[in-house]
Amino acid sequence: MTGSFIIAIDGPAAAGKGTLSRRIAEQYGFHHLDTGLTYRATAKALIDAGLPLDDETVAEKMALEVELAGLDRDILSRHEIGEAASKIAVMPAVRRALVEAQRRFSEKLPGTVLDGRDIGTVVCPAAPVKLYVTASPEVRATRRYDEIISRGGEADFEAIFEDVKRRDDRDMNRADSPMKPAVDAHLLDTSEMSIEAAFQAAKSFIDAALSRNA
Ligand code: C5P
Repeated sequence: MTGSFIIAIDGPAAAGKGTLSRRIAEQYGFHHLDTGLTYRATAKALIDAGLPLDDETVAEKMALEVELAGLDRDILSRHEIGEAASKIAVMPAVRRALVEAQRRFSEKLPGTVLDGRDIGTVVCPAAPVKLYVTASPEVRATRRYDEIISRGGEADFEAIFEDVKRRDDRDMNRADSPMKPAVDAHLLDTSEMSIEAAFQAAKSFIDAALSRNA
């Protein structure tokens, strides 16, 4: 096998793709990039600098400065940052800058796992393994609600549910790189599947592709 072995994982927020991606990266000893963090870091840099979220030239400049090595989900997890990220993610110049950095990351040896919304369709369309991880909006909103409550926080289910649907709508209907499964992606619906079952299914697709590439 020559070059990096790339595993592309797409799907909406709270479908389980983050947990699945980390487990896969650990299992195969591959590098992992959560590409949502690149959009979040760009949005946070704009917010922190008091800059507008609707100026594409300014946002592109921030996107070009994002350092992949310093991305931290704990710092970038805030709800407002996710909302702002999905707004700047509609801008083609921002996407161009971040996709370029993501593609460079994908070439790391021996292999990489990238998760996001457009990895199998735009960032790494030649990836030998593509997964599209989904769950119903109700299940995803319930997961997010339970997570907040288990951390001792307060949450309003209806508000979270509306938020999940609004974010899906923005991600699926933007003109540039809308969220959708690649034609050759394996679909994993985690609505009624444990993360362990999803991992086992993913592993069988990956092992088959690895032996084809050997
Ligand atoms: O996955 P996460 O919630 O961190 O992503 C934040 C936002 O970044 C998403 O709602 C989406 O608009 C955008 N995003 C994207 N393409 C990716 C990853 C994330 O447009 N590959």
